[in-house]
Amino acid sequence: MTAFTIPDAATPAVREFAARTHKLLIDGVWVDPVEGAHFTTPDPATGKSIAVIAEAGVQDIDRAVRAARAAFDGPWSRLTPIDRGQVIARLAALIDQHGDELAELEALDNGKPARIARKVDIRLCVEAFQYAAGWPTKISGETVPHSAPDQFVYTLKQPVGVCAMIVPWNFPLLMASLKVAPALAAGCTVVLKPAEQTSLTALRLAELALEAGIPAGVLNVVTGGAATGEALVKHPGIDKIAFTGSTEVGRKIAASAGATLKHVTLELGGKSANIIMPDADLDAATLGSFYAIYQNTGQACFAGSRLYVHRDHFDKVVSGIAERARTQRLGHGLDPKTQLGPVVSAEQYDRVRRYIELGKAEGAELVTGGGRGVKSPDGWFIEPTLFACTSDDMRISREEIFGPVLVAHPYDSVEELIRRANDSEYGLAAGVWTRDVAVAHRMAKGLRAGFVFVNGWGWIDPAAPFGGVKASGLGREMGREGLDAYLETKTVWLGLA
Ligand code: NAD
Repeated sequence: MTAFTIPDAATPAVREFAARTHKLLIDGVWVDPVEGAHFTTPDPATGKSIAVIAEAGVQDIDRAVRAARAAFDGPWSRLTPIDRGQVIARLAALIDQHGDELAELEALDNGKPARIARKVDIRLCVEAFQYAAGWPTKISGETVPHSAPDQFVYTLKQPVGVCAMIVPWNFPLLMASLKVAPALAAGCTVVLKPAEQTSLTALRLAELALEAGIPAGVLNVVTGGAATGEALVKHPGIDKIAFTGSTEVGRKIAASAGATLKHVTLELGGKSANIIMPDADLDAATLGSFYAIYQNTGQACFAGSRLYVHRDHFDKVVSGIAERARTQRLGHGLDPKTQLGPVVSAEQYDRVRRYIELGKAEGAELVTGGGRGVKSPDGWFIEPTLFACTSDDMRISREEIFGPVLVAHPYDSVEELIRRANDSEYGLAAGVWTRDVAVAHRMAKGLRAGFVFVNGWGWIDPAAPFGGVKASGLGREMGREGLDAYLETKTVWLGLA
């Protein structure tokens, strides 16, 4: 019998939800896994178990994919675009209505402050579904200005089909929503697998989807770890895989998808360069660079984890970031005073700690942090940590740490910056702080990244395409391109002779 420790600060609705033995949602019905396997999930701030989650096996995956196929061929394809949009809009409204509860679940499961989860994660989830709700009535093909005799040629935009969605633990509900919302708008059906560390909000989303009137089988949720994900990726009934996670797993998924020729979009890791030009507003750049790395305890794919500052301003900027880092209040995500939560798991804690030791061993200067930052021995807390590096070749400068660790590098020549920033296997985000509009445009063009922030960091909007180049991914989510990733183009030749 597992002992559960849900903090007293959790509201009754959240306590009741978390304490259930969670099932799988297949074809609109909550079912136990066929093989009966379960796992527990801990609260990262205490290390204590908070929930029992079903572990889906091959047979469960097969049932979920078949249910998604039946819904795709059946009720979902029969809804008019207006009705499909309305049902998605109802789900947006329900997420908003239950926003505080979802933010609390996220705090409990992932460790992030509930207050911030409500303002950032959940708000963006609502906006993702609101944005998607407008699309079904606007998806259209075109007539083709061809040169063939006696033919009328037009294109149809049709849904790709049954989509497998595999998401990570850093923004659990948001990562799911950014995939589910456009897929539903396109008319696809979904089998969603949340990360094993953070399943709770995906399960609650599935309940809300049923309440919103999304037909049975359109959204199925199968919980479990890597083996569950692998079974889903390999299933022959899947038409498209949408994956967010590590580059290592992304490569495996791309290989598997290649073997069976499934559509695939990949949102992967990053080591994003954040550049403060000599003319920048240094106060704004220092504050922005602080949040660029430490928001979400550094567990953001687009974290500004590599900082470049001109040597003349290096000490000022680095000490400004370090001073703020030292005042951060670490604690439980349900404590309203908490500014930074723990990292998500024991595994992640060990990984980040290894990198901190590696940085010291490589000869980087530890400017601040490196410790736990809380008195309690429980939970996976790591202080915001800042290294000053003299070389771009240290492993802490090149590898994705995915924790609250910033590596700062001085530079002497502006000319070398684009080359240094682009000298990375990754290419997700990049940032430039400057008052010179010509420099801003030149840098934005030259930086090899999926998106570039000028005088800011971390903007996300469901209308703005998001994704990476190089080892940071394939394809885009959000915006028109994000919708297109769930559509196929069919060309129709109509003989007129
Ligand atoms: P991960 O790759 O270990 O796991 C991600 C998901 O994949 C989980 O649901 C996991 O269960 C599943 N999985 C693991 N092995 C699998 C396999 N062989 N087949 C199928 N599914 C499998 O990543 P993580 O540790 O959960 O997340 C951190 C990583 O995610 C970081 O590298 C981060 O940069 C990246 N990330 C990228 C973005 C983006 O948009 N580019 C966003 C968030 C996180």
